[in-house]
This record gives sequence, C-alpha cells and structure tokens, in this order.
Amino acid sequence: MSFYEKYVTVRDLPFGDIFANVKRNDVYKVLQKDTLNEMDLLVLLSPSAEECLEEMAQKAHRLTIQHFGKVMQLYAPLYISDYCVNQCKYCSFSVENPTVRTKLTMDQIEEEAQAILNMGIKHVIILTGESRVHSPVGYLCDSVERLKKYFASLSIEVQPLKTEEYRELVKRGVDGLTVYQEVYNEEIYKEIHVKGPKRDYKFRLDAPERGCQAGMQSVNIGALLGMDDWRKEVFFTGLHAYYLQQKYLETSISISFPRLRPHLGSFQPKVDVTDKNLVQAMLAIRLFLPRAGITLSTRETKELRDHLIPLGVTKMSAASSTVVGGYANKTTTNSQFEISDERSVDEVKAALKRLGYQPVVKDWQILTV
Ligand code: SF4
Repeated sequence: MSFYEKYVTVRDLPFGDIFANVKRNDVYKVLQKDTLNEMDLLVLLSPSAEECLEEMAQKAHRLTIQHFGKVMQLYAPLYISDYCVNQCKYCSFSVENPTVRTKLTMDQIEEEAQAILNMGIKHVIILTGESRVHSPVGYLCDSVERLKKYFASLSIEVQPLKTEEYRELVKRGVDGLTVYQEVYNEEIYKEIHVKGPKRDYKFRLDAPERGCQAGMQSVNIGALLGMDDWRKEVFFTGLHAYYLQQKYLETSISISFPRLRPHLGSFQPKVDVTDKNLVQAMLAIRLFLPRAGITLSTRETKELRDHLIPLGVTKMSAASSTVVGGYANKTTTNSQFEISDERSVDEVKAALKRLGYQPVVKDWQILTV
C-alpha cells in the first residue's frame, strides 16, 4: 500500500461543509483528548478554531516540551546546482527561465562547506534543481564524499530517486531526506507542473516512503502553501506524516510549512496564507502529531520565526543562502526564492537563548567508513 491509496479515500471529502459545521465547542472537545484522529485534525484546521488559537498554543507548547525539550536544532541549506529540467510555474529555477545556471565543482563544494562551517553550522541539507542529467546520483554521491568530513549530518533535497538510489546515498553518509509534494491536490499539481518528470505525481508522493525504506534516519515532508486551500493541504500533509510514522517506526518524520515567496516570473499564489493561518496550521499539526518534528526556514521574517519558536518548532535554518555558491561568494545573485530572516547564526542563537531555548548545532554524527 502507498499513501496514494489513503489519499484517494479523503480527497473528495466535503471539506466546505465539514469546516462550516465546526463549532467552537467542538474545538474545545478536541483539546481535551489525548489522541486525535483525522476528523479531529479537520476540526483544528477549521475557521472556528481560529477563535481558539491561544488554547491550542498552550497545549502545543506543552506537548513540544514534553517530547523535545527546549532545544532547537540549527541547519543550513547548501545549494550545489540550479540546473533543472522541470517547468514549475512558481520557481526561479524553472527550465524556461533564461538565467545563467551554476553547478559547483567538488572543490567549490568544499569552499562552500568551509564557509558554512565557519558560521558554526554542522548540519546541512544539500539541494539541487531537479535534473538527473546535471545532478545525477553519481554527482550527489561524490558531493557527499567531499562533505562528510566537514559536517555531522547531511540531508538531501533533490529530485525524487528510486529506493536503491536513496540506499546508495545512505551508505555514503546521507541521513535525512526532504521531499515536498508542493501541492497534494492532484489536478492543481498537473496544472502548475507544466513540463518535465516532476509531472509524475505518484512518483513524487511515494518518494518519502522510499526514503524510509532505504534507511533514512529522518524524512521531512510538506506542501508549498498558497497553491490550494491551505486547510486541505495541511490536512493531507498531516495524514501523510501519520501514515509514514505508523509504518516506519525507526524514521523520524517531520513537516515544514513553506509559503510561496517572491521569485523570478509572474506566478501569484492562488491563495493568500496569512501569518495567522500559518500559526493555526502549525498548532493543528503539533496537536495531531506530538512526536513529529517541525522545521522552519528563513522564508519567514525574524519576528514571525521568533514568535513561532515556542509553538512547536524543533528545527530552524539560520543565515541561509538559497544561491548556488552563495556562502563562499556573496556576490552571486540567482536565488531560488528570497529569504526574509537574514540574521547571522550567532544572532539566531542569541534570540533562541533569550526565549529560553538551547540552540543545538550537532545531535548526530555521520559514521565515516
Ligand atoms: S521547484 Fe524544483 S523542480 Fe520545480 S523548477 Fe524549481 S527546482 Fe526545478
């Protein structure tokens, strides 16, 4: 069974009616429960729950401390190639954008590694545009071989791979996988992914599961909020994470809540996802999945990030560059999307300490063979 079979059982639920019928009292009843089911998740994502955010926040804070303590894992994204063969309407790396592309050599990758290490970061996510031609598994393996002497943890966010390819990367030292479905709504998915292998909805949907089967220690999923009704998209994301958690007990599952950011091109979000909506989405997921990690990137402003920390976040990026070669060479400009929180790692650490949180730069060690 794949998550797709679960997805088809819920995709046509009468979401409008379900959300419209939720009363404030239903939300309070859900808040009294220890274990939530999928209908409870819908209650927490409803418009009525917006009136109960304070109560939701208190419980989310309690559950997060209970399961994770007051610690925050810090990481940085490391873009090594922006070549991409897909045409995605919302992304600067889209194949039809006439930008100069860059793919780092192994020596340039090491320069980036040194620059990130100098910032005090020990966990990185290796990112590429999605192209088997320009960033094949061999290139990824070679990059991992060069990077593992610098870092304690290496994750990847690249084109969806086959199980044996993920397994090869795990063998080399990769311990984490991030794959965003972008949008769970299958029709919108086809509409915004115009050209390229990314149009294969199911191959992407099953990628996190293949990562679990290949032995990834952590798998991070999410929907790019703004493509469809965020309440539905967060519901599907929550069910997907639950499915993986139940089936792969040894893998740590986490969720991100990326919102569409400005980029090259004229695509506008279909749906405006406000800060309040983002808070509700995060709280609902924390209450539904108390053991799931929640990752927060520098897409959000420093003010909002600081506000979200006590509500369930377990991992944050800091001092990120979304440019290929952007740490060692600060003048490079072709970023995947604009970042909002431009604080240094030390400034992020100081903010965490002010809030009573311990910043953690290392809680894993790659076994080098
Ligand atoms: S979202 Fe990913 S696959 Fe789509 S254009 Fe950007 S880098 Fe390529």
